[in-house]
Amino acid sequence: MSKISKIGVLTSGGDAPGMNPCIRAVVRTAIFNGLQVVGIKQGYKGMIENDMYEMGTRSVSNILNLGGTILKTARCLPFRTDEGMETAYQNIKAQGIDGLVVIGGDGTFTGALRFSQKYPDISVIGVPGTIDNDLYGSTYTLGFDTATNTVIEAIDKIRDTADSHDRLFFVEVMGRDSGAIALRAGISCGAEAILLPEKSTAMEDLIAHLKNGAINKKSSSIVIVAEGDKTGGIYDLAKAVQQEITHYDIKVTVLGHLQRGGAPSSFDRVLGSRLGFAAVNALISGQSQKMVGLEANHIKLTPLEEALSHHDFKLESDLLQMMDILAI
Ligand code: ATP
Repeated sequence: MSKISKIGVLTSGGDAPGMNPCIRAVVRTAIFNGLQVVGIKQGYKGMIENDMYEMGTRSVSNILNLGGTILKTARCLPFRTDEGMETAYQNIKAQGIDGLVVIGGDGTFTGALRFSQKYPDISVIGVPGTIDNDLYGSTYTLGFDTATNTVIEAIDKIRDTADSHDRLFFVEVMGRDSGAIALRAGISCGAEAILLPEKSTAMEDLIAHLKNGAINKKSSSIVIVAEGDKTGGIYDLAKAVQQEITHYDIKVTVLGHLQRGGAPSSFDRVLGSRLGFAAVNALISGQSQKMVGLEANHIKLTPLEEALSHHDFKLESDLLQMMDILAI
């Protein structure tokens, strides 16, 4: 018999496509197992402000195809304080919640771990939900695949105009600390260069590479720049390159928040469903302070402490190795 009788589910930090399929899986798996489920609105803010509601199987009808999160999300400063956590705990206890599924990124997990260390009678399981794909313990995080597909669709369109006008486009994509979206999108779109926070690129090398492209009769060039690239802001970068490469008309596009939206891809719908299902089963089997992830196509539980202690999340080395070679 499970010790858990009532599960609270929340989404926190940045929204990511795939959160809704995950919420749906949590609700239905819990109800199938005879548990009650409460939806907590706006992440930890809803715990502190007691903004929660009972969910049933029909509360999650027709949400598989929706981007964003029906529970809404927020960044909540008061949850970082002892007083905020105590208020959240009292509200959770009053609701009768004894297990939490938190869907979010490393900040969300840090909060969850602190909360459950302080109040060990509440079991907590984390689900990696962030478009940045930068959490240790899961090869993929919810939203990464959809966000990358959105970027690819946009860059394919940019390529059409770049090609027609002999233009060089600098395209900024999300990723303050992680180049995962930039790298995947760059390989998928045949970008001439990909600038990543994890890898320094010398300006002379970039210019030489782009000049070489022109010598090889490329009719257009796309340079993908992750937000966190250290070479300099995208506008300054474009200006510096324009001084050296005058035959191309250089344009800058910042894709921005459109990368977060849209219907989740098939991959993110299935991943959200698998992780939500696994999170509830982990709570039922007595687990706590763990993250559910997918590694080698199998569900894996990683202690939150371990998931949070690895900041050396690596990009795929073969993609890094091929990115310049395939763009010659
Ligand atoms: P993303 O990767 O999309 O940014 P995230 O989960 O890392 O998602 P954050 O804004 O860093 O997003 O964290 C979400 C929330 O988690 C914060 O608003 C806060 O409520 C809580 N949180 C973060 N760090 C802590 C902490 N040290 N102690 C308590 N709560 C925290």
